Amino acid sequence: GHQLGGRYEILTRIGGGGMALVYKAHDILLNRNVAVKVLRQQFVHDEEFIRRFRREAQSAAALSHPNVVSIYDVGQEEDTHYIVMEYIEGHNLNEIIHERAPLQADEAVRIAVQIGDALEHAHQNHIIHRDIKPHNILIGKNGRVKVTDFGIARAVTSSTITQTGSVVGSVHYFSPEHAKGISTGEKSDLYSLGIVLYQMLTGKLPFFGESPISVALKHLQEEFEEPRKVNPHIPQSVENVILRAMRKNPNERYQSAREMLNDLDTCLKPSRLSEPKATFTS
Ligand code: ATP
Ligand code: MG
Ligand code: MG
Repeated sequence: GHQLGGRYEILTRIGGGGMALVYKAHDILLNRNVAVKVLRQQFVHDEEFIRRFRREAQSAAALSHPNVVSIYDVGQEEDTHYIVMEYIEGHNLNEIIHERAPLQADEAVRIAVQIGDALEHAHQNHIIHRDIKPHNILIGKNGRVKVTDFGIARAVTSSTITQTGSVVGSVHYFSPEHAKGISTGEKSDLYSLGIVLYQMLTGKLPFFGESPISVALKHLQEEFEEPRKVNPHIPQSVENVILRAMRKNPNERYQSAREMLNDLDTCLKPSRLSEPKATFTS
């Protein structure tokens, strides 16, 4: 197959969206598989897209966490701009939801906890993901959750509206404030995580519609069907977490990933939550 940077042998295409294509590749030097994300050809002469692509790599590379996909390398070979990262053998959460949602509460909560851990680490490093959705959550064969695609991540302090003035992200997971194009912060990521949890447990989105605008308006104005009305098997404690994460007023939401994680922890069955206790004999 094609070789990139004298080192990465491109094997098969594994994904990609509007901006980039993702390939499984083999790193010949280190003799291991990697994922290579390549900026789409139509954008390689657009400085803004190249900047955004590099920022994606920088945001993710600033993080080092077991639930965040690791960045190994970035490069450019003629017109090909690429990011090399850890290869996750498994599925993205969107595939899992479409295959077998609703998930058991325990499984869904365990996935949400790992996403929350990744967000806590990102937020502590002043990075907002801004595109938390099932496509961007990878689940390895071992069940380990990895958050990827920091394509529109931002430093906490900078403005939320892009330089071109467009709103970015996936409208189904937008927080109301994101839909309005105003400040997005940590709490916007927690709203999106609430939606992901809702979707894992009900198999459906809380808001959907004809157009992105109509969905955005629903985030702002409409109430959604309560999760337990869709799926009565959802424990009350888990529904409470979803309702709190999805409050329209950011001030009524969890104020930090840690706060949401504390509530998610109490949703897990105590037997599996507690570490085996050390036994002391005298
Ligand atoms: P765009 O930025 O153009 O929207 P994208 O955001 O869709 O592209 P990603 O979200 O990074 O690109 O990846 C798309 C898909 O490729 C993922 O949903 C996943 O299925 C697969 N994928 C991405 N990164 C990896 C990886 N490191 N290991 C395994 N599969 C991956
Ligand atoms: Mg993506
Ligand atoms: Mg992306």
